[in-house]
Amino acid sequence: MAETPTQTDYDAVVVGAGFAGIYMLYKLREELGLSVRVFDKASGVGGTWHWNRYPGAMSDSHTHVYCYSFDKELLQDRDITTKYVKQPQVLEYLEHVVERHDLAKDIQLNTGMTGASFDEKGGVWHVRLDTGENVTARFLVTAIGLLSQRNLPDFPGLGSFAGESYHTGAWPEGVDLTGKRVGVIGTGSTGIQVITEVAPIVDHLTVFQRSPQYSVPSGNGPVTPEEAARIKRDYDKIWAGVRDSMVAFGVEESTTPAMSVSAEERRRVFQEAWDKGNGFRYMFGTFCDIATDPEANEEAAAFVRSKIAEIVKDPETARKLTPTELYAKRPLCDSGYFEQFNRDNVEVVHLGETPLEEIVSSGVRTADGVTHELDVLVYATGFDAVDGAYKVLDLHGRGGKTMNDHWGSGPTAYMGVATHDFPNLFMVLGPHGPFTNLPPSIEVQVDWIADIITKAQEAGGTVEVTKDAEDSWCQICHDLAHQTVFPKVDSWIFGANIPGKPQVVTFYMAGLAAYRGVLDEQTSNGYTAFEIRTPAATG
Ligand code: FAD
Ligand code: NAP
Repeated sequence: MAETPTQTDYDAVVVGAGFAGIYMLYKLREELGLSVRVFDKASGVGGTWHWNRYPGAMSDSHTHVYCYSFDKELLQDRDITTKYVKQPQVLEYLEHVVERHDLAKDIQLNTGMTGASFDEKGGVWHVRLDTGENVTARFLVTAIGLLSQRNLPDFPGLGSFAGESYHTGAWPEGVDLTGKRVGVIGTGSTGIQVITEVAPIVDHLTVFQRSPQYSVPSGNGPVTPEEAARIKRDYDKIWAGVRDSMVAFGVEESTTPAMSVSAEERRRVFQEAWDKGNGFRYMFGTFCDIATDPEANEEAAAFVRSKIAEIVKDPETARKLTPTELYAKRPLCDSGYFEQFNRDNVEVVHLGETPLEEIVSSGVRTADGVTHELDVLVYATGFDAVDGAYKVLDLHGRGGKTMNDHWGSGPTAYMGVATHDFPNLFMVLGPHGPFTNLPPSIEVQVDWIADIITKAQEAGGTVEVTKDAEDSWCQICHDLAHQTVFPKVDSWIFGANIPGKPQVVTFYMAGLAAYRGVLDEQTSNGYTAFEIRTPAATG
C-alpha cells in the first residue's frame, strides 16, 4: 500500500514528561529540528517524581548517576550534597532541566492520551486525548513509564475505610501523619521508605507485610564538597564506566564468584558492602554470581538474615521479618528499616501467616479476627509494571490491530523500543529493555530512537521492526533471564504482582554495556531489524 507523507499537526507526539519524555523532547526538537508536542496527564512534569511524594521517597541510585549526562554544563552546575536524592530534589532537578532548555512551551500538562490509531495510507498517527482533542503526528513516542500505573489490589471492603487512605504513587501534598495511627500495606522499595520515615512521628504504625524482604543499608549521608568536586572532575570517566557496566549504578561490579573465596573472605566482602551501602552494590559489587548461582545467592541472603537477627531485638518480630526465599527481587536498600521494629509503636502483621481478610471502616481485619484500628491507611502496593500504562490505552497499529491483542500473552518489544505492526511508534523503557539504573538506559534509548527517526525522515517513510527481530530478541531476553535466579521469585519484574497477569520475562538481563553493543551493531548494519517503507518502495 502506498504511504504518502501527509501533513500532520506535529512531526512527533511524545507522551509522558518524566525523565524519558523530557529528554525525548529535547532531542527531537533541539537536535533533529522536529516540531514536537508532549502530553502528560499529570499537572506537572517529573513523572515518577511528580506522583510519588510519599514521606521518605528517595532514589536508590546515587545522586551523581541519577540524572542526565547529555548536558555537561548542567552536570557541573548541579549540587551534589548527599549520596542519594530525595523526591523534592529530583523533581526540582527535572523542572530545572525543562526551564533551562525552554521545554515547557511544548509540554501540555493535564492531558492524557486515551488512544491512538495508525493510518497506514498517510503513514500518520492519530492521537486521542482526554481533553477531547485529536492530533496527528508522523512519529509517536510513548515515554509513559514502567512504574507509573498504580496497583491497588481488589481487597474485600476496599473503599469502606472511614479514615484517610492514600496510594504512595499518587501522594497528595500536605498530608501530616504526626500522632496518627497509620497502617502501611506493602513492604517493597516504597513501603520500606515510608515505614522508615514515618515510624518516629506516628502514634502507632502497623506494617502489613505479605512477604519479608532482603534489604541492606543505603549508606546515605553527606557528600563533601571535595568529593563532589572529584566527581565533577571525573564525570567523563564515570559516565563511560556507567555505560560500559552491567547495571549502570556507578558501583564497581565484581568479577569474582562467591564460592571461589573462603567463607571468611565472603563475610568480609558482604560486610564491606553492607557498610558502604546500596542494594545494587550488595548484589552486583560483592560477587559476580549472586544473581545467577543459587549457592552464591544463599550466601548473600544468609548474611542479610544474620543482620536482621542482630538488629531486631524481639525474636518473634525478627522471625516474621526474615525472608527465606531466594534473594531475587530488585535489590532494596533502606535508611534503617529493620531498626524501626524495635520501637514500641511499630508492629508487623505478617499477612503471609494471617492474611488480610477485609478492609473495614475502622481499619484492617486479618484472618485471626483482629481489627487493626487506623486513622490512615497507606497502600504501598506498587505498580502494574512495564506494560500496565499501555494496557489502559486504546492503541491500534497496522491493520487496526490493538496493542492489547498484540500483547495478549505478555508484552513484547525489540530492544524495549519498538514492536511489530506499530510503525513509527517508539517506546522508551518499553518491555525487554535493560534492567539498570534507569536514566543512563533512557538516554541510550532516546538517542537510538532519534537515530531511527532520522533514518525514517530521510527516507520519507515509515519504520517498523520486523516480527523475526522482535521474536528473536524476546527469546534472547527469556533465555538470559532464565540463567538468573530472578524468575524463581514472584515480583513485578515478571508481572507476578498482578493477579491474572501473564508471567513473562520483561527485561534484558545482560546489562547496559551488552545492550549498547547490540544497538551499535544494528546501527552499523543499517537497522536490519527494521523495515523502512518509503512511498517509492511501496507505491
Ligand atoms: P515516568 O517518570 O513514570 O513518567 C511517565 C509519565 O507518563 C508520567 O508523568 C505519567 O503521568 C505519564 N503518562 C502515563 N500514561 C499517560 C497517558 N496515557 N497520557 C499522558 N501521560 C501519561 N529508577 C532508578 O533507576 N533509580 C531509582 O532510584 C529509582 N527510584 C524510584 C523511586 C520510586 C518511588 C519509583 C516509583 C520509581 C523509581 N525508579 C528508579 C524508577 C523510575 O520510574 C525511573 O527511574 C524514571 O523516573 C522513569 O522515567 P520515565 O520518564 O520513563 O517514566
Ligand atoms: P513492589 O516492589 O511491587 O512492592 C509492593 C508491595 O505491596 C509488596 O510488599 C507486595 O507484597 C505488597 N502487595 C502487593 N499486592 C498485595 C496484596 N494484594 N496484599 C498484600 N500485599 C500486597 O512496589 P514498590 O515498593 O512501589 O516498588 C516498585 C519499584 O519501584 C521498585 O522495585 C523500584 O524499582 C521502584 N522504587 C524504587 C525506590 C527507591 O528506592 N528509589 C522506591 C520506590 C520504588 P509481595 O512482596 O508479597 O508481593
